[in-house]
Amino acid sequence: MANKEDKFKKVIAHAKEYGYVFQSSEIYDGLSAVYDYGQNGVELKKNIRDYWWKAMVQMHDNIVGIDAAIFMHPTTWKASGHVDAFNDPLIDNKDSKKRYRADVLVEDYVGKLDAKIEKEVKKAAKRFEDAFDKDQFLSTNPRVLQYKEKGDAILKRLGRSLENEDLADVKALIEELEIACPLSGSKNWTDVKQFNLMFGTKLGASAEHATDLYLRPETAQGIFVNFLNVQKTGRMKIPFGIAQTGKAFRNEIVARQFIFRMREFEQMEMQFFIKPGTQQEWYKYWKEHRLKWHLSLGLGEDNYRFHDHEKLAHYADAAADIEFRFPFGFKELEGIHSRTDFDLAQHEEYSGKKLQYFDHEENRSYVPYVLETSIGLDRMFLAVFSNSLQEEVLEDGTTRDVLKLPAVLAPTKAAILPLVRKDEGLVKMSKDIVNDLKWDFSVAYDEKDAVGRRYRRQDAAGTPFCITVDGESLENNTVTIRYRDTMEQKRIAIDEIKAVVKEEVDVKNWLMKM
Ligand code: ATP
Repeated sequence: MANKEDKFKKVIAHAKEYGYVFQSSEIYDGLSAVYDYGQNGVELKKNIRDYWWKAMVQMHDNIVGIDAAIFMHPTTWKASGHVDAFNDPLIDNKDSKKRYRADVLVEDYVGKLDAKIEKEVKKAAKRFEDAFDKDQFLSTNPRVLQYKEKGDAILKRLGRSLENEDLADVKALIEELEIACPLSGSKNWTDVKQFNLMFGTKLGASAEHATDLYLRPETAQGIFVNFLNVQKTGRMKIPFGIAQTGKAFRNEIVARQFIFRMREFEQMEMQFFIKPGTQQEWYKYWKEHRLKWHLSLGLGEDNYRFHDHEKLAHYADAAADIEFRFPFGFKELEGIHSRTDFDLAQHEEYSGKKLQYFDHEENRSYVPYVLETSIGLDRMFLAVFSNSLQEEVLEDGTTRDVLKLPAVLAPTKAAILPLVRKDEGLVKMSKDIVNDLKWDFSVAYDEKDAVGRRYRRQDAAGTPFCITVDGESLENNTVTIRYRDTMEQKRIAIDEIKAVVKEEVDVKNWLMKM
């Protein structure tokens, strides 16, 4: 596929064409940065959520789940710091009238320096072939060092200015770097302003008595306020975790990257409560564990990298992102944060209730520390979907679009195809197979068009197996099974279908790779 932009456009078009993702309220020209999932999208999303839930909750005997409400008492957001500090620095371009996140403009500039480094590495690797030592090259090549030094200095200054709320310096930085509006090329910028990302709403029938509420901007706080409920009723012993998946809402300033950055999205978060002082060890554990979860899906090791935060949020003592190579470059997919006792201590202060744990071994009470893993379900969807969409040139010179979704996540596991739809015997046998398999897997029946076209349709929709019923099937109870990725076809007995498909789609077989 041509360049990154074309590839990304193709991802968006394919997601629509095959019933994965639609623009919200499209008949009214859509609502910006809000999306709906279609008949295939809802299945893929559910399968990703289940894959996460099984790995995090079912496979850990010390992690349990909850489902907290989206509405929370408004004081929650005072305590968590969101009312005062959940801001993004925004800047407008006076000519194009476009609004940007000032920090993102600067980070994208540094991203371009990183891309230059990658280019140098590629060039050198080609030149030196087997003798190429990447680490040595990165630490000695003068041009690479210059790019790196420049990027680091810019990020350090940005971090410092944001921390000190020195928004004038953020603007100065944008001007010094001569960053132009990506749309118009203009460098005519307004001042940088802070903008709170929470959506407000009201609870109550009459205006005078209404309470101001927020739509939650993260699921984590629902876990913190329920910490004692779960610990006591579940008799949980530290270390233990509480997991949750659910909707979160943010009034994002820049929302132009499809389901990467949405105003309504879903998070999958886990807060792990630990003894103070053990945070380094658990931080390391969860970083490794979460990366292994990602790698188990087989999207390619090269597509992930850690980004350790230099600038830490006020509550954190260590934080890293797992970044993924999206069609528009490496970007955050998941965050792993060591949050200390910040959240529970804040809720103690604002609620006046003790949120402590009595440690029998140590014979003392303390406010636990928290290690958090937080991933966006929609972002994970985009990672899986965009990585799986491939255009292949076949031996006969034709091309096929194939959506090589990990079989465990695919919306439809198998399509059952009678070779000819006019043959009642084949149709009946196909439908019998569907009716048997659907107790175990989501399957589809497809009889329209020539079988070759049906294969291509299932390839593009991401179905890992096609089961074709033909004349021979009626004679000896066998079918052909066609594998989406290799296009290999095999003859197997009807009795074997379930076992063959299960082997490939079973969560256990995938999670065992962790
Ligand atoms: P970013 O820097 O991209 O805005 P963040 O650091 O604010 O993200 P967190 O608050 O750490 O993100 O949220 C945890 C996860 O939730 C992110 O890693 C991401 O996967 C997901 N997420 C956050 N904001 C959005 C959004 N607007 N749309 C979709 N997913 C999101």
